[in-house]
Amino acid sequence: MSHHQVLIVGGGTAGITVAAQLRRKNRTLDVAIIEPSEVHYYQPAWTLVDAGTYDQQATKKRTEDYIPSGVAWIKDRVATISGADSKVTLESGGDVTYDYLVVAPGIQIDWHKVKGLPEALGKGGVCSNYLYDQAPYTWEVLKSLKAGDKAFFTQPNTPIKCGGAPQKIMWLTADYLRRNGLQGKVDVEMMSPGTMLFGVEVFRKQLEKVQARYGSKWSHYTNLVEIRGDKNEAVFDLIDKETGEVTGQRVEHYNMIHVVPPQSAPDFVKQSDVANADGWVEVDHNTLQHTRFPNVFSLGDAAGTPNAKTGAAVRKQAPVLVANMLRVMKEDKVTDDKRYFGYTSCPLTTGYGEMLLAEFNYKNEPDPSLPINTKKPRKSMWILKKYVLPQLYWKGMLRGRA
Ligand code: FAD
Repeated sequence: MSHHQVLIVGGGTAGITVAAQLRRKNRTLDVAIIEPSEVHYYQPAWTLVDAGTYDQQATKKRTEDYIPSGVAWIKDRVATISGADSKVTLESGGDVTYDYLVVAPGIQIDWHKVKGLPEALGKGGVCSNYLYDQAPYTWEVLKSLKAGDKAFFTQPNTPIKCGGAPQKIMWLTADYLRRNGLQGKVDVEMMSPGTMLFGVEVFRKQLEKVQARYGSKWSHYTNLVEIRGDKNEAVFDLIDKETGEVTGQRVEHYNMIHVVPPQSAPDFVKQSDVANADGWVEVDHNTLQHTRFPNVFSLGDAAGTPNAKTGAAVRKQAPVLVANMLRVMKEDKVTDDKRYFGYTSCPLTTGYGEMLLAEFNYKNEPDPSLPINTKKPRKSMWILKKYVLPQLYWKGMLRGRA
């Protein structure tokens, strides 16, 4: 059994950022990160890889180069958390106890919840930008589309990381087709169980214009439940608007289907005492402190906060969590002034060379952070996404500087 003053579960965007900020604030803190993966991914660029406009290798770096100096790396996977005993159990068998815990293992991708998807993925036109290895295949499929083909894009009926990702790749595909004389000749359709194109009105209006420009279709109340890879068929449940019940099914032949699979809290979190009824880590939405275990905090995709789950949200959450944890260490209470109000930002690539930056908060109100109007697609935002944000991530955020 080992013990650390601060133990961080997960060394992804949130875990590394918090570790780096903690060590910058106090060099004497004993901090350890439990992270099984040798590689760290910059997931926001995967959509650009899909669209053939970003180097896949540049989205991957060695974890060891980003564990902050002085922080211990426990290369293992957490099997259980006991908030009551201030202890985690590792998959390899040992226990690690802590004074303070940060739970940041991200979101779980439930590929198996769409029948036939695990077997079909990566061939026959079935692709997804939710896996590093899959991104180049999406580009291959996209380039092979020809007149008369049908390209579908799906969203699940669960929370997902980067709520805009399903439509970003659809707009890029539509733009690729337009530039290659195939607009109107390939059917492009979003299949979504949701009720609208985007939850925040001001951005939705702009996105409706983008949709009109490409002449693509958007089906609501439609949920992917099965892929029949051998026949290139996808099966969708049709959902009643009022009751939410399944009223029938639609079966479509596809040449391309870009799937965003169902997602949920990691199983080991769901099964632990730190989870809320839906399986996410039960924290106060503003302080990020656990509501029952005051020495436990959470942020990022696994946290039970009702924001849209993004790395941009983590960037705003991390300093709040760090300030509150440091204050609890000293005075057993959180700070008076460091609060998170649900900021998130969704960089929606609406075509090659243009992007709409949707920034909003818990109340679905626009929450702009830049001095220019980002409420409509702009070339400058594409430059931000492709060239500036990756640098900000690797050199700023993960080093505890931004
Ligand atoms: P992650 O960064 O996923 O890290 C979780 C870590 O926990 C991983 O390293 C994992 O190995 C580890 N872990 C898992 N299980 C265990 C365990 N049992 N024990 C220990 N460790 C464990 N965000 C944006 O801000 N802008 C974007 O444009 C954007 N686009 C996206 C596009 C795509 C296609 C995808 C997939 C994501 C995108 N995101 C975007 C979302 C962003 O990447 C995530 O919201 C962010 O990485 C969340 O950080 P996290 O630390 O919670 O999770």
